[in-house]
Amino acid sequence: MNAVPDTAATERRARFETNKLAKRLHRQVGQAIRDFNMIEPGDKVMVCMSGGKDSHALLDILLALRVRSPVPFDIVAVNLDQKQPGFPEHVLPQYLRSLGVPFHIEQQDTYSIVKRLIPEGQTLCSLCSRLRRGILYRVAGELKATKIALGHHRDDMVATLLMNMFFGARLKGMPPKLVSDDGRHVVIRPLAYVAESDLERWAEHRGYPIIPCDLCGSQQDLQRAQIKVMLRDWERRYPGRIDNMAAAMGRITLSHLMDRNLHPFATLQATGAPDVQGDKAFDDDACSNAAAQPVQFAPRAAPAVR
Ligand code: SF4
Repeated sequence: MNAVPDTAATERRARFETNKLAKRLHRQVGQAIRDFNMIEPGDKVMVCMSGGKDSHALLDILLALRVRSPVPFDIVAVNLDQKQPGFPEHVLPQYLRSLGVPFHIEQQDTYSIVKRLIPEGQTLCSLCSRLRRGILYRVAGELKATKIALGHHRDDMVATLLMNMFFGARLKGMPPKLVSDDGRHVVIRPLAYVAESDLERWAEHRGYPIIPCDLCGSQQDLQRAQIKVMLRDWERRYPGRIDNMAAAMGRITLSHLMDRNLHPFATLQATGAPDVQGDKAFDDDACSNAAAQPVQFAPRAAPAVR
């Protein structure tokens, strides 16, 4: 006899999983805000909304956290309508009005500018993002926002680290908090600890009115897309790797890298005193073959004294 699916139990399970996800998202965002002192009393946080899942989740989670935060702060949502053909300009205002959150839609036809300046077939994204950044900084000043919040998440930050290594030969990531390149704003990334897969599930659960990101017709950044495929493949085969890479960005041992400007390799001297934190020299560099084998220690013969 076939077992009858227990609908109530399935629904209970789904509710439980959603609650767990909500708690995790709130905890991780709260933790990132605390760890990097992202939001201070009296801040006006400008949440940049592209209409994608990440910025929707960022606004949603910040609004929820603000209700119970001991730190008073304001939120203003901002969307830049870049006049891409087919951009559904009513969607975000309608949604933001329904949330009761103050918002501003900045209309600037950057689409025509990039189309005019970039030859056909080349990617538009680099100029487009530069223009967008400048406009958002100006708007932040006009709105007297003290923080600019972006929806980049953990996976974006790890992908950026790898892209900089693979294609730029530089150990550089995407920081959770930084001063803007014009020196006038503080940019924060409260989703720094959040996994993209969690945001995908959350967006589906919340049913955000997502605006597709391919309206401009530009090709996706191929290098970033390749890195993302690679990361997802690693994560599928060896779960936990993205988390480890993200954590590694906050645990850096400068003496074990090769930047001569950051560590005084040239003047290193033996101290003559043991250091419990010190390097174990060769202990960590077992060859890959040995690392795969269980380690067996044989008693060592005492060194011959001549
Ligand atoms: S995908 Fe389109 S809108 Fe997005 S940065 Fe690239 S050119 Fe601009």
